[in-house]
Amino acid sequence: MTVAVLALQGAFAEHGNMLERLGAEYFEIRKYEDIKRPFDALILPGGESTVMGKLLRELKLLKPIRERIEAGMPVFGTCAGLILLSGRVEPEMTRGCLGTMDIRVKRNAYGRQLGSFYTEGEFRGIGRIPMTFIRAPYISDVYGSTRILAETGGRIVAARQGNQLVTAFHPELSDDARVHKYFLDMIKEERDTKI
Ligand code: GLN
Repeated sequence: MTVAVLALQGAFAEHGNMLERLGAEYFEIRKYEDIKRPFDALILPGGESTVMGKLLRELKLLKPIRERIEAGMPVFGTCAGLILLSGRVEPEMTRGCLGTMDIRVKRNAYGRQLGSFYTEGEFRGIGRIPMTFIRAPYISDVYGSTRILAETGGRIVAARQGNQLVTAFHPELSDDARVHKYFLDMIKEERDTKI
């Protein structure tokens, strides 16, 4: 199984380290040609969602990525990656650039300073995990078939809808590889249902 990590901007290297630790093959998508390589799943890292969205458009990566997600390819968005996947974004954008997931998200939701903090919380199906937030968004609402996977301080911070997994926090910045492992299991599930 091969995972692609979107590496236009932001905290992509840390995702690569996690995948390496878990023994998964991966490569980075930096330009249009990279999307032509075969891969089974995609990680959208944290960073700045507006910048990443602009680069995705300029590099003509937006449409092919959206089509693959809609066709069932597993995708994992952390923080800015979560914003890109959101069906509804507050305050500025009306829709994340990819907009494939039935979640409503609030950007920079805690205020500039308060948005960066560390806590621990329950993640459905995994247990208690570390959660590092950096100028984080939170999910203000889920709809459609989206399921909530984690909440902290009364806010939704992780969710899944079929092949799409999102966290408002950064599991790649901790030592704990269980959320990435959860994603790799999602990829296996997806492959098994295809066979
Ligand atoms: N605040 C950023 C945004 O709106 C997200 C921050 C992050 O990815 N750590 O894109």
